[in-house]
Amino acid sequence: MLNRPGAGAASFDVEREERIPVRHREALQGRPGKVSCDGACPAARDSCILARVMRDPLLFPFYTDIASLPGVGPKVKPVLIRLIGGETLFDLVFHLPTSWIDRRNRSSFADAVIGEVATVTGVVDELKPSYSKLPTKVRLRDETGFLTLVYFRANPQWLQRTFRVGQSVMASGLVTDFAGGRQITHPDHIADPDKEKVPEVEPVYPMTANLAAKALRKFMAAALDKLPELGEWIDPHELKREHWPGFRAALETLHRPTTYDPDAFHRARERLAYDEAIAREIAVAQARRARDKRKSIAMPKAIGIERQIIEALPFKMTRTQAAAFQDVSSDLSRSVPMRRMIQGDVGSGKTLVAALAAAQAAASGKLTAIMSPTEVLARQQAEAFSRFLKPAGFRTEALTGRDRAATREAILDHVEAGDIHVLSGTQALYQSDVDLPNLGLVIIDEQHRFGVADRLKLTAKGISPHMLVMSATPIPRTLALAFNGDLDTSLINEKPEGRQEVVTAALADTRADEVMEAVAKAVRRGERAFWICPAVDSEDAGDASAEARKLLLADVVRAPVEIVHGRMQPLDRDLALERFRSGESRVLVATTVIEVGVDVPEATIIVIERAEKFGLAQLHQLRGRVGRGDKPSSCVLLYHAPLTEQAKERIDTLRKTTDGFEIAEADYKLRGAGDMLGLRQSGAVDFRVFDLNAHARLLEIARYDAKSIVAGDPGLNSNRGLAARHVRDLFAPRIASQINEAD
Ligand code: ADP
Ligand code: MG
Repeated sequence: MLNRPGAGAASFDVEREERIPVRHREALQGRPGKVSCDGACPAARDSCILARVMRDPLLFPFYTDIASLPGVGPKVKPVLIRLIGGETLFDLVFHLPTSWIDRRNRSSFADAVIGEVATVTGVVDELKPSYSKLPTKVRLRDETGFLTLVYFRANPQWLQRTFRVGQSVMASGLVTDFAGGRQITHPDHIADPDKEKVPEVEPVYPMTANLAAKALRKFMAAALDKLPELGEWIDPHELKREHWPGFRAALETLHRPTTYDPDAFHRARERLAYDEAIAREIAVAQARRARDKRKSIAMPKAIGIERQIIEALPFKMTRTQAAAFQDVSSDLSRSVPMRRMIQGDVGSGKTLVAALAAAQAAASGKLTAIMSPTEVLARQQAEAFSRFLKPAGFRTEALTGRDRAATREAILDHVEAGDIHVLSGTQALYQSDVDLPNLGLVIIDEQHRFGVADRLKLTAKGISPHMLVMSATPIPRTLALAFNGDLDTSLINEKPEGRQEVVTAALADTRADEVMEAVAKAVRRGERAFWICPAVDSEDAGDASAEARKLLLADVVRAPVEIVHGRMQPLDRDLALERFRSGESRVLVATTVIEVGVDVPEATIIVIERAEKFGLAQLHQLRGRVGRGDKPSSCVLLYHAPLTEQAKERIDTLRKTTDGFEIAEADYKLRGAGDMLGLRQSGAVDFRVFDLNAHARLLEIARYDAKSIVAGDPGLNSNRGLAARHVRDLFAPRIASQINEAD
């Protein structure tokens, strides 16, 4: 333990550790509560990022506290943290400028353009000190005329000293027009042209209150001075081809440019975006490599059981369902851990494919665990799996946080005895102390809620089960690459036979009464309806609120109307959903809590009130709640006029197509990646520099490069490998900390 190479006591000197912010230390270690890492923990040697940072003199400066910068005291620090979203020098220097001020513009007064920043030189013609509340005016003269500098409440002594009549001064600032004359109010810079210089260019940052731009620039410069040059991880030919600067040079160019050169700014930014992309890709490539070396239980195809289940189905499997299952089935039969995603639009029938996979596992005597984002969905999955698997004699149970201890215990006893074959739960299933030694397959439903790091964490436990993830969020290809890099993909891209297209109509909410009548009619035919509202109580949305609408509907429909929303106790919510699912009540008024995954084939109408408020992907998901049976279904978008251009476009797109992928592309174009359903909270688009809209091209290059780096030097021990390690640990510590390099 003592002589472990590379983890000697000196690497963990306390003084050094204390210079890293506590919160960051915890995050790096992935173990909140335990701050000090003494290098003795088994993770320390290879996968504890904190340990790596501590013993690496090149990485360490990036992780030091911003409080180590001159001028960043207890008052400024919280302001800075709010602005940059972190407390290390790395966080600071990755708060990048959004534009640069060009101060080269050395024009004459007559040529200075009103509304632009100009840098001008003139002779002080007159200094008119202020009387009472009026500003001080300094009139300058050049060959072409006059320009006035205006100061409110400036220090009189400073003014007298700086502006002596007859002397020349240089001023830089925004030129405005005042009663036909040009003036600059509070110039950004004043200099004596013989002795000083006005900077040619200055970065402009997203700012916050209580922090001066000048101070921020100073902090940036001080931080840059502390950061070392890192080795180059980019291939030299590529660097040349793209005209990219080095890593540190790129930061210098952006924060401390010496010349105004938009092209150089663009290339510097692009390089850093690439760095961020390759960091993730390196981590993912390594995780993938480690996974390929790990062993899972090979669970051979179980043709007989498969047939039993398929023959008992009340419908015919679609061609792509069958194909997706073939992919899964052959993955399962190998001892390399499966990491596969099934991507399929809402209602495409992913559950059946997952159930067949679970049957194959059960046939080998292995347990399957399903993980859903909510308890309702966990229970619904348990039911669906039970239905599909019963003909084969396999048993599924839900195990959620809500179960009483005794129930849990009983279930777990049955699991141990081997007579429960599938367990369905939420994330809690994994976070808890539940030990599932017989686990052969993990299925993750609605996976866009979980990020890459979460996924890796799941499988980082001792056992290495096969993993199947199911996504109902069709995402554009470029995004899919960023997000699902560690997964193989099977696509279910056709609707089950007999499904009828959902007819979509958009109506002004002045016609809500007619729509309620239509719902009443459907209920009389024995069908069911969803009614989605933007808010719970009428203070927020009037008649469009869930509570108001419930009362109105109950009156018109004359059948039980159920309500669910986020402010209800989860148990009450589940019971209400359950009553609707079982048919005890016929109409479900809900806020968007029902958004994902609820499966009620008898529902034929979904009304979405204030449809203009919802995003495209969300509307599509909601619409996917109907059209799951064999009856014609409709989706009514009730909007509140007038509509914005964007809202109009969203509604039009939705009326034109029911293809989730087409909708995803449209959504992506309309809103950009960051706002797409569920992706933000997953951290998938949690990039600092990389912008999927602007840098999509770089992602594929980065992926290719990362693969070739890791393939050629799996341990990342060469010079380029060490550099690659640096960029990985800087930009993707959360993913990197899930990688055990000893694998
Ligand atoms: P999702 O892909 O959104 O998870 P589900 O698996 O919940 O979709 O399937 C939606 C509904 O379609 C379920 O009621 C399911 O039983 C049914 N279903 C699945 N496959 C088919 C099929 N091939 N033909 C008809 N109905 C199907
Ligand atoms: Mg589903």
